[in-house]
Amino acid sequence: MISEKMMPLVNNNSAIRMMFEEGKRLAEKYGRENVYDFSLGNPSVPSPDAVNEAICDIVKTEDPVFLHGYMSNAGYEDVRAAVADSINRRFQTSFDENNILMTVGAASGMNVILKTILDPGDEVIVFAPYFLEYNAYINNYDGKVVVISPDRESFQPKLSEFEEKISEKTKAVIINTPNNPTGVIYSSETLTKIADILRKKEKELGIQIVLISDEPYRELAYDGAEVPYVTKYYHNTVVCYSYSKSLSLPGERIGYLVIPDEMDEKDRVFSAATIANRVLGCVNAPSLMQRVIMRCVDEKTDVKAYDKNRKLLYEGLTKLGFECVKPEGAFYIFMKVPSGDEKSFLEEAKKENILVVPGSSFACSGYVRIAYCVSYDMIERALPAFKRLAKRVIKACEK
Ligand code: PLP
Repeated sequence: MISEKMMPLVNNNSAIRMMFEEGKRLAEKYGRENVYDFSLGNPSVPSPDAVNEAICDIVKTEDPVFLHGYMSNAGYEDVRAAVADSINRRFQTSFDENNILMTVGAASGMNVILKTILDPGDEVIVFAPYFLEYNAYINNYDGKVVVISPDRESFQPKLSEFEEKISEKTKAVIINTPNNPTGVIYSSETLTKIADILRKKEKELGIQIVLISDEPYRELAYDGAEVPYVTKYYHNTVVCYSYSKSLSLPGERIGYLVIPDEMDEKDRVFSAATIANRVLGCVNAPSLMQRVIMRCVDEKTDVKAYDKNRKLLYEGLTKLGFECVKPEGAFYIFMKVPSGDEKSFLEEAKKENILVVPGSSFACSGYVRIAYCVSYDMIERALPAFKRLAKRVIKACEK
C-alpha cells in the first residue's frame, strides 16, 4: 500500500520513535526527574504573555466569520505589511506586503519554495552538518541533495568544496544560520563569499541559483552576535522564517517567506509560491495565528533563559574535558564524541539516562547534538551524570 518513495521515511521514522520510546521507558523506570532528555528542539521558554493575551482578545473581539474564514493564499495583506515593516525597522530593508508570503511554519515554507523552483533532477546544495529533514523536502520534488562536507574546525561552510560542487544542475543552496545543530552563526564575510561564488557561477554556467536562508533561530543569538540579513548579500535569496522558536509556537505552525524585489522574475516567483502554498494543501497559514502575529510582530522570547542554559552546559561540559563547538546562537551544543564512535557513546550516555541525538542525524558523525531548550534545573541535575560519563568515555579513549 505504502509508496516506494515513502518507505525510507517510514523506516527512518522508527529510529526517532525508538528514541522517544527509550525516553519514556527510562522515565518509567527511574522517574522523570532522573532522566536527562536533551534530544528535542522544543522551546522550553513559554510564549510571551502578549501572545496568549492576543489570542484571547482576538477570539473575543474580532468578527468570527472573518477570523475563521479563507483569505488570499499568501495570507492577510495587513499581516504581511506588518511583518515587512518589522523586518525593515530591524534590518534596514525595504520590503512590503508583496514580498511576504505567510506559511505554515518553516517546514512548510521550505516545501513551498522548493516546489516553486525544483524540476526533477535539479540539485540542491546543503552544508553539513544540517537539518536532515531537508533531504525529505528536496526529495518531495525529486530534487537531488548535494552535501558539502563539514569544516570540523570552524563549522562555517567549506567554500572551496562548495564552488567545486556547483553544476549546471544546481538550482538552490540552503543555509541555516544560526545553525541547527552547531549553534554557529555564518559571518558577514562567509555570506559575502557565498554570494560572490553564486554570482560568478550563475554567470559562468548561465543559470539561476536560489539561496534559501532557513532562519527559525534568527532571534536566538548570544553575546551580542549579529545575524546578518541574507537578502542584502545576494539577489536571488529567499528567507524562510518561523515563529516556532522565536515566539515558542511550534505547534501553532506559523512563519513566512521573504521573496525580495531583487529576485529574478520576482512577481512570477511570488505568484507561483502562493499557488504552491495552496496546492501543497496548506491553502493558507492559520488565520488566528496570522492575526496574533499582526499584534505581536515585535514580541521577543526570553533569550536570556536560553543563554543561561548555554553557559551552564557549555562551561560544565568543557570543564569535564568534552570538546564542544561554542554555540553563538540557536539552542544546541554540538559535542565531539571522544572516541569518535557515536553508537557506543550513545549507549554509555543512556546508562546515565542521558539522551542526545547522534551527529549522523545531521550528516556529521563523531558528534552528538545536545538541545539545551530544557529547564535550567535539569541541566544542573544532569551535570553529575555527564561527569560520570566523562570519567568513563574520556578515560577509555586515553588508554
Ligand atoms: N529548519 C530547521 C533548521 C529546524 O531546526 C526546524 C525545526 O526544528 C525547522 C526548519 C522547522 O521549523 P518549523 O517548526 O517552523 O516548521
